[in-house]
Amino acid sequence: MIIVGAGVGGLTAAALLVKAGCRVLVLDRNPHPGGTAYVYKRKGFTFPMGPLGFGTPSVVIKNLQSLDGEDLKLSPIQYRIKAFDLDIPISHPFPKMIEELIKLFPTEDETIKNFFRNMEEIVSAMNDPDMDPNHSILGKAMSESAMEYLSGLVKDWRLRRVLGSIGTQEPYSSLPLLSAMWNLISNQGIWYPVGGMRSLCDRMVQAVSGHRANRDKFGEIKLGTEVEEVRIERGRVLGVILRNGAKIDSAAVISNADYKNTFLKLIDSKFVSDEWYRAVMRARQTSSNLQLCLGVDANGVDLSSFKEADRIIYRRNQADLSGQIDWSAEEIHPEALVCQELEVSLLSKNDRKLGPEGTEIIVIRTEAEHFHFSRFRPTWRKRIPEYQAYKMRLGRALIQEVENLIPGLGRAILVMDIATPLTFEEQGGRSGGAVAGWSWNYEDGSDYRPRELVRTPIQGFYMAGYQAFSALFMGGIPTAMESGRRAARAVLQGDGPVENIMIPVTE
Ligand SMILES: Cc1cc2nc3c(=O)[nH]c(=O)nc-3n(C[C@H](O)[C@H](O)[C@H](O)COP(=O)(O)OP(=O)(O)OC[C@H]3O[C@@H](n4cnc5c(N)ncnc54)[C@H](O)[C@@H]3O)c2cc1C
Repeated sequence: MIIVGAGVGGLTAAALLVKAGCRVLVLDRNPHPGGTAYVYKRKGFTFPMGPLGFGTPSVVIKNLQSLDGEDLKLSPIQYRIKAFDLDIPISHPFPKMIEELIKLFPTEDETIKNFFRNMEEIVSAMNDPDMDPNHSILGKAMSESAMEYLSGLVKDWRLRRVLGSIGTQEPYSSLPLLSAMWNLISNQGIWYPVGGMRSLCDRMVQAVSGHRANRDKFGEIKLGTEVEEVRIERGRVLGVILRNGAKIDSAAVISNADYKNTFLKLIDSKFVSDEWYRAVMRARQTSSNLQLCLGVDANGVDLSSFKEADRIIYRRNQADLSGQIDWSAEEIHPEALVCQELEVSLLSKNDRKLGPEGTEIIVIRTEAEHFHFSRFRPTWRKRIPEYQAYKMRLGRALIQEVENLIPGLGRAILVMDIATPLTFEEQGGRSGGAVAGWSWNYEDGSDYRPRELVRTPIQGFYMAGYQAFSALFMGGIPTAMESGRRAARAVLQGDGPVENIMIPVTE
């Protein structure tokens, strides 16, 4: 059995197949396992590549426990929105959210109650497998976007943004997705694994190739090994060809590379229908991030904004909200970048072991478009000389802006690392550096219930990873894990191919 990619989805599938007694070979082009969920060292600090926590903890706990029987300890992450002169805690169940928001928007009390009642009803309908979408609140929820729904309901534009994006943006998604996200962040909570993301990946690696799994050499992970082609003949998978030309046979292959990497790069288009190929080409993904990881001197910063929060969704009070950034420009103005919504995380509050004593770790993130940064890359992993200085200008501007939240930040920095969409693509391994899978925009055909996208038109070939569901209603890590579990099950059952592509595609 071959698995292309040692991300969360690939490792979950591999570990379950090893447990079922299959011989499994996991191949990853990166020198480390974990895909986007890996962490790395910089001068004594441990910085995250991607995830800083996850929702739907039951899925993660259940999957990990089925691998090695051990529990996973979690600590809750507290989110707040600080923007537009408001300070709103959002990691509270719906009744408390209603109370907090009515304090801030007393004249919209009925609207706020109605909104959360609707969110609750939509979530229950989505969780009921027998619910007919045509004859329930789901039908109505699918017929209008979150923007249309909220425009008719809310008077204050700030409240519209908070309710419609769980942040500071205008509503952009469908109502089912918005309900699922409110349910995730407020009712279920977002959690940090004690021991860090590293411990999560280590447990899966151990289950694949550790001592217990490997008494009979069942599982092996080969890092620094790029798959160049998936071999197929007469609609059936035969194995893979590596970058160095080596051929490896296998009657079943699971790809943990995402859909675009898999069907546009690893598989010859003649092996799938035109409809399938076109759909993968056209499908939109979520945008990427610009990310700053900072190791700072704890004595030099004022962290009082984080007294009751671990993560702050921040936007400058006087930010110009009318204009979008022109990402097609040669360079974007740093001032425009810092007027976007920023997510500022005090990661060291969740995990003291990530940095030396007397230090803190702060992660700043904001949306960024991959195509803008790709012009700085002449070839894979190479950059033109101007790139470094440009990246630094953007980074410095973000730090200066975040001084509004964390006075003293600029002068207290000991170590700084900046990641762009190119980093998430090359180090994390995902096309376009996309953060959250398929597009969340209402217009891009989002679903009312996530559909499993594990099977493919090729016999013996399956998908695992965050794009192997049509929507991330559970959040990134649990979706990737659950897809890995389903892919392993499909292999063991010998599930046959599918004809129609089900990924969300813009019409
Ligand atoms: C900036 C950022 C922040 C995020 N924050 C969160 C968060 O807070 N919470 C959350 O739940 N999720 C978050 N996510 C999403 C989360 O990272 C993913 O959902 C999850 O880690 C994805 O796992 P995956 O199984 O899809 O594999 P990926 O992480 O995409 O890994 C795929 C692997 O396949 C390998 N690969 C690809 N092609 C080949 C090839 N040809 N040959 C060999 N190997 C190959 C890659 O090297 C990579 O290791 C974030 C993502 C990003 C980018």
